[in-house]
Amino acid sequence: MSVIKSVIDKVKQVDPGQKEFHQAVIEVMETLEPTAERHPEFVKAGIYERIVEPERTVMFRVPWVDSKGEVMVNRGFRVQFNNAIGPFKGGLRFHPSVNLSIIKFLGFEQIFKNSLTSLPMGGGKGGADFDPKGKSDGEIMNFCQSFMRELYRHIGPETDVPAGDIGVGGREIGYMFGYYKKIRNEHTGVLTGKSLEYGGSLIRPEATGYGTVYFAAEMLATRGLDFKNKLVAVSGAGNVAQYAIEKVNEMGGRVISVCDSSATIIDEQGIDNDKCCYLMELKNVRRGRVNEYADKYESVCVEGKNVWDVIREQGIKLDIALPCATQNEIDGENAAALVKNGCMCVAEGANMPSTPDAVKIFQENNVLYGPGKAANAGGVATSGLEMSQNSLKLSWTREEVDNRLLIIMKNIHKSCMDASEAYGKKGDYVMGANIAGFTKIAKAMLAYGVV
Ligand code: NDP
Repeated sequence: MSVIKSVIDKVKQVDPGQKEFHQAVIEVMETLEPTAERHPEFVKAGIYERIVEPERTVMFRVPWVDSKGEVMVNRGFRVQFNNAIGPFKGGLRFHPSVNLSIIKFLGFEQIFKNSLTSLPMGGGKGGADFDPKGKSDGEIMNFCQSFMRELYRHIGPETDVPAGDIGVGGREIGYMFGYYKKIRNEHTGVLTGKSLEYGGSLIRPEATGYGTVYFAAEMLATRGLDFKNKLVAVSGAGNVAQYAIEKVNEMGGRVISVCDSSATIIDEQGIDNDKCCYLMELKNVRRGRVNEYADKYESVCVEGKNVWDVIREQGIKLDIALPCATQNEIDGENAAALVKNGCMCVAEGANMPSTPDAVKIFQENNVLYGPGKAANAGGVATSGLEMSQNSLKLSWTREEVDNRLLIIMKNIHKSCMDASEAYGKKGDYVMGANIAGFTKIAKAMLAYGVV
């Protein structure tokens, strides 16, 4: 039996309920098969067996008091997956669906993503099954402080540097950083995604969305195409979606959709910058639902469906898809409809938004398909730049950071292309991203001996 197959079998056997983690391991491991043939030293050193096992997993109780004085309890997680090439690094997600399987899938993906950025960052992820929706600012603060009351002992600027993810934005990072600073009595770069006033980096809020569009532009350029006058479907309405829309507009495309977990908006006229500003105010300040967009601007609102269901059911034409909401939002049926409706490029702003069936359909139909670990790596790359600025005690300008982000995204694209070509499948971004990310980590792990 090949080492890859035996690693996949073992992961399924030891953690039988972790379906998202299995999905991520299978997707990565199957493309790594040729590396095992080319690098017998990786097999001998047990690299494949070791890379699927987190260095450390922490699960903890998060007790807090709501505004009525009632005691609430959530479960917190931090999975420190791999620190072969730098301190553990990866976001924190606050969402009721969070469980160990989801955090492990995200942490596993993060290892390869961070390696691709070429910055010295290992992979990790964390979060809690806490639902920030409908909570007051005071309740959010109580929760964040209780979460950090345990997390602080596991993290540090040279150990593990968390950031935001779904449900964790500037407000939550502020509460968590403030509490860490108080109990450790040190002002240090222990979190990224901080506000500018206390050590944040310009462009960090924009970075994931901008980077996804930069990556898509690189993919399009391989076929002599660009964003001008293209119809672009975006899902989600949060941080990644908002800045992806802004960058698509700047590059001359027209964004026709957004969604949140309650509804989808289709705006055939295009979500221009004024409408995007409205969306930012709606989601980031008023924390409202996306259906309010349809009250303000002429558009169609479909309750209870995501963007991809609506595109399939209504046969909406598009050129480019940027899924920016959550995992497994595009299934095989929706992928087939996207292809039928004219989609020729998919760049994933979200992590693992396409199911394995969907990925297969994109690849079989020659769609330019950029997996999340490559396409959305701009966020963590800019977090890496925030860490560098914190260490240097310097702040770079907006242009400087944006320029570095653009160069990093172009380099990630090139690494994917080069690795896919070196292994005989030029243009297969899934294989390219996995092999390029993996090889660097495997070589570092090899150098350390068995640790
Ligand atoms: P946000 O919380 O800011 O936004 C998420 C958006 O997606 C919200 O509008 C949310 O709706 C919507 N959403 C969530 N679940 C569903 C669902 N099941 N159906 C429809 N809409 C849904 O998160 P981010 O924008 O930060 O993250 C989005 C994705 O990007 C995630 O997969 C994340 O892991 C990934 N990512 C984020 C990075 C970052 O820097 N922030 C970096 C790299 C990847 P609602 O408003 O109703 O909650």
